[in-house]
Amino acid sequence: MAETQSPQPGEAPIAPAAEPPVKVFPGAVYECVRCGTRTTQEELSSLPEVKCICGYRVFRKVRPSVVKQIKAV
Ligand SMILES: [Zn+2]
Repeated sequence: MAETQSPQPGEAPIAPAAEPPVKVFPGAVYECVRCGTRTTQEELSSLPEVKCICGYRVFRKVRPSVVKQIKAV
């Protein structure tokens, strides 16, 4: 079997390496713009780098009580 190994989706570079880390604020909740996984500032700060479990590094701030509805597609 000559099965080619395709790169994992999460490994695709989405931004220059020189991009500064996502700024985090105490008590804030962040949502991955890719998979929608929510995490807290506390969790992010415990990681070596700001990164979602899916590998994406772009988060948007989520307000605890006021959830802003965005159009999906
Ligand atoms: Zn994610």
